[in-house]
Amino acid sequence: MKSFDPDLQRVIDKVRAAERLDREDGLAMFETPDLIALGQLANADKERRSGPFVAFVLNRQINPTNLCVLSCKFCDFAAKVGDDHAYEMTLEQIRQRVSEPIREVHIVGGLHPDWPFERYLEVLRVIRDANPRAQIKAYTAVEIDFFAHLERISVQEVLDRLCEAGLEMMPGGGAEVFSERIREAMYREKIGHERWLEIHEIAHQRGIRTNATLLYGHIETYQERVEHMLMLRRLQDCTSGFLSFIPLAFQPGYTNIVDRPASAVEDLKTIAAARLLLDNFPHIKAYWVMLGEETASMALQWGADDLDGTIGEELIAHAALAATPVGMTTQRLLKLVREAGRLPVQRDALYRVIAVYPPPGSATHWAQRLGRDTDDAVPLRGHFGEATPVDVEQFGLYTWDLVTGPAAEIRALASSLAPCDTVAQAVAPEHPVSRSRG
Ligand code: SF4
Repeated sequence: MKSFDPDLQRVIDKVRAAERLDREDGLAMFETPDLIALGQLANADKERRSGPFVAFVLNRQINPTNLCVLSCKFCDFAAKVGDDHAYEMTLEQIRQRVSEPIREVHIVGGLHPDWPFERYLEVLRVIRDANPRAQIKAYTAVEIDFFAHLERISVQEVLDRLCEAGLEMMPGGGAEVFSERIREAMYREKIGHERWLEIHEIAHQRGIRTNATLLYGHIETYQERVEHMLMLRRLQDCTSGFLSFIPLAFQPGYTNIVDRPASAVEDLKTIAAARLLLDNFPHIKAYWVMLGEETASMALQWGADDLDGTIGEELIAHAALAATPVGMTTQRLLKLVREAGRLPVQRDALYRVIAVYPPPGSATHWAQRLGRDTDDAVPLRGHFGEATPVDVEQFGLYTWDLVTGPAAEIRALASSLAPCDTVAQAVAPEHPVSRSRG
């Protein structure tokens, strides 16, 4: 692989030599005019980790209230008591929203001025009782810190009580950008990066897996994006507790901070730089709600290996005028993944594999796909109709097991139009389940 940009060529050479990338390399990736070579480099890294697979989850997002004691300048979601758009969901409304056969519930919302901690616990209990198969990914570090102050208890105790009520994982929101300059300008009342990282470290030590985010496309610099990723990488070196990194494209809404969202070029560079800098993160997510469907699908060729999920009713980005649909059907997600030349895998919140989706239709396309070099462009032919998923949940595989070790047969068989039952048989009998973290 060659680049016409000497700075990016230096990065390519370091990746080839298996050298860890540094701050200067991060800047080179953001500043390069060679988007294609950057994408190829990130894509090759993605393929080494997860082959042709892209994960998604059947999920629901619950935002229990938009009432919030803080007033972050970039936030169009929050409301104050008496505002026309203020709302509080009842427990019954929450229960009804999780009744479908989903596998993940993502909960994040405002810091309510009057709700006691018990109310947030009750939200978890209601969901757990209504849908025991759905894993609960709940409450950002900002909310955890708020609960600790509300109850005057430690973060450890907050997490203990949340876990008792049903929490299984934490989302990565509230990180924004790890920069005091930006915090001072846009969310000075909110916890800073030291507290955010501390809370995630405590969660990891307690065995709770978490995600991490970056809010980009407003007033931050490339340098600040790189510093943010390097701080996350340092914590991950110590704990290995992060599962996924999710770059969140800022939605300007009514904030007047910037005129328009980041361009698709900026989105793809951020995804690619994240894949290459965050070498200890198993997954990079293309969050379609904020990227838009088209850019999210393209990001699956620029280093992302996860598309998030069906979501249901998302209120935060859409309060900021995100142009994407409110929710996504499974068929639509499958189409986006397949259009990007990828094999869809349904996962749960913790990245355990529930089902693989063999490719439909075109034998030519997928036969080429299996044999090609990872540096080549993906040939996009064939159609993207429906295909019957193969349930592999019983084998207890994680997504990273699909490309290495005992489950390698899934890749070969799924990519060569194997009959569905053959795929299932291939991973069934004598293969012990790998638990590596990828
Ligand atoms: S970003 Fe979160 S903490 Fe800040 S105002 Fe909005 S809801 Fe409240």
